[in-house]
Order: sequence, then structure tokens, then C-alpha cells
Amino acid sequence: MDAITSTRSKMVDGIFARLGYRDAEVECIMKEIPRHLFVDSAQEHDAYKDTALPIGFGQTISQPSMVAMMTHELAPRSGDKILEIGTGSGYQTAILSYYTPRLYTVERLADLSRRAQGLLESLNLRNIIYKIGDGSVGWESWAPYDRIIVAAGAPVVSDVLKRQLADGGRLVIPIGDRDAQHLLRVERHGDSFVETDLGECRFVPLLGTQGFK
Ligand code: SAH
Repeated sequence: MDAITSTRSKMVDGIFARLGYRDAEVECIMKEIPRHLFVDSAQEHDAYKDTALPIGFGQTISQPSMVAMMTHELAPRSGDKILEIGTGSGYQTAILSYYTPRLYTVERLADLSRRAQGLLESLNLRNIIYKIGDGSVGWESWAPYDRIIVAAGAPVVSDVLKRQLADGGRLVIPIGDRDAQHLLRVERHGDSFVETDLGECRFVPLLGTQGFK
């Protein structure tokens, strides 16, 4: 094992020790993905610390423990149709692409979307469909989705997103104000939506029609 692989492996073991549960699939995938390639080269030495880091344009790559927890709570099953809102660096996208070739990701900033796409393709992670635009309204064309994950803080769980969730599907989304949110897991059972509060979190705001203005 080279030095980077072993540092990465230690980070992942530490994250799950602190989370207090195991998720063999998420652990295995996170040990594979070279997070240092998803951060600015100036930040590379911090890529395997459990912290969010700037990726330019006022945005951040999410904290690895938050990515671990969100993926665990999303509980994607192989082959699920997944919608990700907020591609950002593409790190979470890379993780989700291990579960399914039916992965749709939306980012409002064209520069970030293109950079993520270039990097993911260079890692041979294909079969991802990218959109540049306002993901606060989901992506109607491919709905319904078995899983929806939102990587930016929203003011409310919008009806638009709920409608794009398949029956039996799950949505993981930070809800609150611009500065602080609670991570929610929303499960759809027919016309009823069951919400579970997973605790406090901090994301950059979801901007757009169903987000912050
Ligand atoms: N999972 C990403 C998180 C990036 S931060 C990572 O770890 O790199 C959240 C991202 O959501 C930012 O890139 C931001 O530009 C994007 N975003 C904010 N509002 C959005 C919207 N309405 N539609 C799509 N993307 C949005």
C-alpha cells in the first residue's frame, strides 16, 4: 500500500469509528477514491483530514464524514436511479457512481460542472449524466428517482423534489437557513413522506427557484 492509500484508509477508519457504525460498502468506496484530486492543488496536503475545503467559486468540497453519513443514509442499492444536486468537485458523484450507472448530477456553476466531468472521466467513471442549471427544481426529464441527494442547504423540502421521488424512494437533504441546517432523510411511502432528523450540519446555500434567492 502506498503512503496516500494508507493515509486515506486511516481517514476512513477514523470517520467510521467516530460515526459509531460500519458501512462496508461506503468504507470500501471511500478508500478507493483519490480525494486529493478533487481539491485545489494548494489544499492537497489537507485532503485526508476530515474537513471541508474550498474548491473555488465560493464553494466547498463536503467534509468526508458528512459524505460518509449522507451516503450511508441514502443507502443506494445497486442499479438505483440517483439524482445528485450540487455536483461541486464531483467527489460525492464519484462515490455514487460505484452504485449505479443511472446517475444524474446537476450543478449551477458551469466551471465546476465541467471540471468535475473532466476529472471523473479521467478516473474512468463514465455513465454519469451532467446538467448545468438550477437543481433546486430537481431534473424532471428523468424522474422519478429512487434516491435524491442534495449537497447544499435548502430552506424547505420542496414539493417539486418530493414529486420526483419514486414510491419507496429516499431523499437526503440539509434543511435550515443560509448558515446552519439539519440533515433530513425523507422516505416516500405512496403519498406520505416520513422525515427523520439526522442532526446539525453546515452546507453552502442551495440557490435557485426552490432554494435561497
Ligand atoms: N458534493 C459536493 C458539494 C459541493 S458544495 C462536493 O463535495 O464537492 C454544493 C454545490 O451545490 C456547489 O458546487 C454549488 O454551486 C451547488 N449548488 C448550489 N445551488 C445549486 C442549485 N440550485 N443547483 C445545482 N447546484 C447548486
